[in-house]
Amino acid sequence: MNERIFLSAPHMGGDEIKFIQHAFDENWIAPLGPNVNGFEQDIQEYNNIPYAAALSSGTAAIHLALILLGVKNDDVVLASSFTFSATINPIVYQQAEPVLIDSEKETWNMDPELLEQAIKDYIAKGKKPKAIIFVHLYGMPGKIKEVKSISEKYEIPLIEDAAEALGAKLDGKPLGTFGDFGVFSFNGNKIITTSGGGALVSQNKEWIDKSRFLATQARDSAPHYQHSKIGYNYRMSNIAAGIGRGQMKVLDKWIKFRRANHDFYEKELSPLGFEFLSEPNNAFSNRWLTCVIFNERINTKPEDLRQELEIYNIETRPLWKPMHLQPIFKNCKAYLSGVSEFLFEKGLCLPSSSSLKDEERMLVIEKIKNFCK
Ligand SMILES: *Cc1c(COP(=O)(O)O)cnc(C)c1O
Repeated sequence: MNERIFLSAPHMGGDEIKFIQHAFDENWIAPLGPNVNGFEQDIQEYNNIPYAAALSSGTAAIHLALILLGVKNDDVVLASSFTFSATINPIVYQQAEPVLIDSEKETWNMDPELLEQAIKDYIAKGKKPKAIIFVHLYGMPGKIKEVKSISEKYEIPLIEDAAEALGAKLDGKPLGTFGDFGVFSFNGNKIITTSGGGALVSQNKEWIDKSRFLATQARDSAPHYQHSKIGYNYRMSNIAAGIGRGQMKVLDKWIKFRRANHDFYEKELSPLGFEFLSEPNNAFSNRWLTCVIFNERINTKPEDLRQELEIYNIETRPLWKPMHLQPIFKNCKAYLSGVSEFLFEKGLCLPSSSSLKDEERMLVIEKIKNFCK
């Protein structure tokens, strides 16, 4: 039996261990140190944004953004429904109310028209939403320019969840830098990893300074431990940041490999009737995961194919189950288009690691072709 072919495996470039070794040599085994500062600088330079805070997770970054925007109990926060639960959970940490916005067909991300409708409804009810969380799923740039103008028109701050979209661009501008805040994740399955980690970025220095303060238990400046705010333990460790510095060196290469996976699958599988998400004009996806949609010509269900590939030790996964279908969020108000439910029902994510070998991709294709005959 072949080794397991993962959906999205960690992929080290080689220099990560040097940064870790340096941390050990200097005894910087703490949630601060030169790797943390260096990694923040790398993120800033790569994304052409002046301020970044390295944190323990992408979820922590979203949570801090909401806190900095003053989101509190009973506030309304509008968020993409087609996403991972980590986008929505921090809204509930703040005891605010998530209102879920469905996707449009072209990019699978938040539909700006539904968003504006929701804003109008809530303003009419005297409950102006406190923030918008917009997700770029699978690394595909969504309609962020439209959403940005809506956010400006109604003066509702915009958090861009680019957890899956590091390195993707729209009009040449990195995703995560359109909103008031941008969020990245370096969890184990993302395009690069620190074994677990995240970052919050912004053009606003005061916000990022404050996020670092809140992420280190909100210690006032005093010789003793003094606190006048509730703090969090959300900082990235110097060891994790060392991995991140090594990973930043190979990020562009890994994006190339992920994009090559996508192009290979598309070439091989579209003749069978599988559909792929194409890049709109001026959009550059990092192709974090390649997703296929089963059209009417295909006489099998995504779940049947998933189970079949599992026999050959090949990992695939349904697309994200929309938040409005999740037991925990089923009572949330949602503005629906049917798009995310369709994608959940008809889609499958294929092995997309940057470390995927040619013969592994060939095996995946061969097994799919045999099964769909
Ligand atoms: C991974 C992910 C997150 C959360 O990031 P963590 O670092 O795992 O906390 C948030 N949003 C989306 C869309 C993600 O895919």
